[in-house]
Amino acid sequence: TVARLRPFASTIFAEMTSLAVEHGAINLGQGFPDTDGPPEMLEVARRAIADGVNQYPPGPGMPTLRAAISADRSARYGLEHDPDTEVLVTVGATEAISAALLGLVEPGDEVLLTEPYYDSYAAAVALAGATRRTVPLTRSGNEFVLDVDALRAAVTDRTRMLVVNTPHNPTGTVYDDGSLAAIAELACERDLLVLSDEVYEHLVFDSRRHIPLASLPGMAERTITVSSAAKTFNVTGWKIGWAIGPRTLIDGVRAAKQFMTFVGGAPFQPAIAHALTHEQSWVASMRDDLQRKRTLLSGALTEAGFDVLDSAGTYFVCADITPLGFLDGVEFCRMLPEKVGVAAVPVSVFVDHPVSWNHLVRFAFCKRDDVLAEAAQRLHEVP
Ligand code: PMP
Ligand code: GLN
Repeated sequence: TVARLRPFASTIFAEMTSLAVEHGAINLGQGFPDTDGPPEMLEVARRAIADGVNQYPPGPGMPTLRAAISADRSARYGLEHDPDTEVLVTVGATEAISAALLGLVEPGDEVLLTEPYYDSYAAAVALAGATRRTVPLTRSGNEFVLDVDALRAAVTDRTRMLVVNTPHNPTGTVYDDGSLAAIAELACERDLLVLSDEVYEHLVFDSRRHIPLASLPGMAERTITVSSAAKTFNVTGWKIGWAIGPRTLIDGVRAAKQFMTFVGGAPFQPAIAHALTHEQSWVASMRDDLQRKRTLLSGALTEAGFDVLDSAGTYFVCADITPLGFLDGVEFCRMLPEKVGVAAVPVSVFVDHPVSWNHLVRFAFCKRDDVLAEAAQRLHEVP
């Protein structure tokens, strides 16, 4: 393994999922749902395979899917994008993120992340030969907030890109209007590109609204927005994602993407186009369901003795293990599958400064009610 990738030899999701399998534990570690997406969408994919949609799709993605992505953004947020030049279909959001970094950031540039951050960001920054700087979210009461002054202080003359993720994995934080406005102001003032990871855009709870960063003043021209069908339609294995932004930036993302995978997921593309156009009520009811599951698992964790943080969106809730007499989340998560029969993920693997995050563990609640109920039972047995 090359030096720049050595720190990223294996992902925590693979490790915890294999521990879960080994011990027959309920996997609340890796974030994936255990029910299928809308039946008609699945049928469109089956039909596409039967009808021979099995060869390379066009480089930027099938026109029907790009049109559906563009129409959805227009209907939902009033943001207009030319489907031919400003929308790029990728192999999951993961590829969009890597391609954006490889295609838009020079070696030696600095990329600013908030900490904790989704694990692929740091690896993609390293692949691009760039340097990452991180700014920690800070705890305020039972939630996390962005320290805008710290973010501002971390920008240097070398900073090229800021990566923003809201709703946020792993904490479930949803940035409020003030944080978004401050990010936008800073990005404009320091002329930064912004990579806005909005894969959980539909999964916000308690009558919050998702506000796309690109909709703020001055942001459309500097923002690459990344999203994915994975979390919206319960198809994490289909790996259909997209990048949206101004043509000049999308050109850079495409330049990298075409040599990473060229294209992907031909028969899934018409299915996602169908879902974006026809399955909005399915998404709304899945979201309501998830909100209920969030409340259910948060309650169970509280009952089991954890100090549980608020989750305002995503698949995830974080819990402090110190009230149970544990200090190290990594040790805790290595013990949990065998001793308790549940898998979780330590938050410290999403950070550069583990000391302040060691006591936090992330649980996924995107699971069937019976699975969550069984997990709740088992969590009472934490030694
Ligand atoms: N960004 C975040 C914040 C995520 O949580 C995930 C996946 N869990 C991704 C990106 C990757 O999305 P995809 O599976 O579409 O590649
Ligand atoms: N995004 C999911 C999570 O955060 C899974 C990602 C993965 O397995 N790479 O758990």
